[in-house]
Amino acid sequence: MKPEEPVYDVIVIGAGLAGLSAARELKNKGLQYKVIEATKQPGGKVRSNVEADSGRYTELGAQFVNEDMVEMVRLIREAGMELERTYLLDDAIIINERKTEVGHIGFDHHAELLGDLAFKKKNPLSAVLKEVVEDEEEAKAIKSFVAAEFTVNSEYINPKALKRLIGNITLEEDEVKFQASGPLDNVIQFLAEESSERIIYQAPVTDILKQKNNYVIKIGNQQSYIAKKVIVAVPPTVARRIRFSESLQERYQRALNSFIDGAVIKITLSYKEAFWRHFSIRGEEKTLFGVLFAEHEGVNVMDSSKVAGESRLTMFIGGDKAKELSETSPEAREQFAVDCLTEVLGDQAGKYSDSVEKVWVESLYFGGGYGAVTHFAGDFEAKQVLKEPHDNLVFASTELAPEFPQFMEGAVRSGKYAAEKLIEERFD
Ligand SMILES: Cc1cc2nc3c(=O)[nH]c(=O)nc-3n(C[C@H](O)[C@H](O)[C@H](O)COP(=O)(O)OP(=O)(O)OC[C@H]3O[C@@H](n4cnc5c(N)ncnc54)[C@H](O)[C@@H]3O)c2cc1C
Repeated sequence: MKPEEPVYDVIVIGAGLAGLSAARELKNKGLQYKVIEATKQPGGKVRSNVEADSGRYTELGAQFVNEDMVEMVRLIREAGMELERTYLLDDAIIINERKTEVGHIGFDHHAELLGDLAFKKKNPLSAVLKEVVEDEEEAKAIKSFVAAEFTVNSEYINPKALKRLIGNITLEEDEVKFQASGPLDNVIQFLAEESSERIIYQAPVTDILKQKNNYVIKIGNQQSYIAKKVIVAVPPTVARRIRFSESLQERYQRALNSFIDGAVIKITLSYKEAFWRHFSIRGEEKTLFGVLFAEHEGVNVMDSSKVAGESRLTMFIGGDKAKELSETSPEAREQFAVDCLTEVLGDQAGKYSDSVEKVWVESLYFGGGYGAVTHFAGDFEAKQVLKEPHDNLVFASTELAPEFPQFMEGAVRSGKYAAEKLIEERFD
């Protein structure tokens, strides 16, 4: 170490919601810290596409919250915004591509079902589903729901870990009930400004080396930083690409290798009128909220409009289907979305005024889906190993959240938890 090199109390790697939330705790405690971010902007999987002239915006990544997500709701308000209702009526329905109402598919139902399934941990979720769900059509719908909701196909998922994950998502109300009154980028800017001179952008961390009492954080061969403590606030599948010194590698390799990346494509179409809200099913007019495509595993569509906002439908394509479509062109993906919608909603589905897409599949620094999940051969306890500090190092990301994993709320809670736990221990 050169004599003039500063030794920070803590270095946070990653300026997504987890990293920025950790940084906030460090700032409140008056610690000397730096945040090192790989890309040129903060936010990670929270990103808004804001049109410069009109201010009209579309969320490319995370979008929805509910009032159970207290940390996110607080941040939205601190950033000067309010909550606005998503157009989701109590009696709104979800249908499949055969225009039949899909029964209740949600976390409660699945947590219950997984209770029966979890016994065979060596089998992936798909195999266990095959044994337990007799009705083939129902199994197909559940598989599609799983791939859409967790952005990983059930062939790869560890049922026991998924049961635990669902158990950690304690929702009293629908998770898509609210949205912020402005772009979520405002939340990110608000948090980033709090740490403004302390964030270094375009600096992908390549090495984390333990040296005596300190850590050396390297950005290729160009730059390095020294800190007493480290928070690795990147998804576990992304952290695998960082080189760790030998003892760290031994400790964390199995846990980091236990995760599999999600894959998701989000396509939002805007319409002059929300024609799908007058949907006739068995002679009755119903308000349609969404479509779950059992035949296209991992594809679902929802009414993403706000009550007083533009009429919008958003298609989420999750898992293997997202990977497959990521290999095609934007035009081909748009056509896929329109064809799926037209099949169910008729020709009006093709009369949209614009379409905005974001392909998150295999993003070098964000992972590819809402979050990574434990694969079927992975260590069920991986999350525990990563989320507790050891030797002044800890991991943080939505996957490791004590509550609301896979959501923004989980990322915020995980970042706070990691920082609180890490600074509980002495700084020598
Ligand atoms: C399409 C989509 C829709 C979603 N919808 C919702 C929703 O409606 N509601 C909801 O609550 N959640 C939603 N989510 C999930 C939510 O976005 C994530 O859970 C959350 O943003 C994850 O935050 P994070 O900080 O854990 O990780 P990330 O956002 O992935 O942040 C990680 C950060 O680390 C940086 N990084 C990575 N590697 C390095 C490195 N080597 N060196 C330095 N920096 C590095 C990355 O650049 C990034 O900035 C959605 C996600 C997606 C993709």
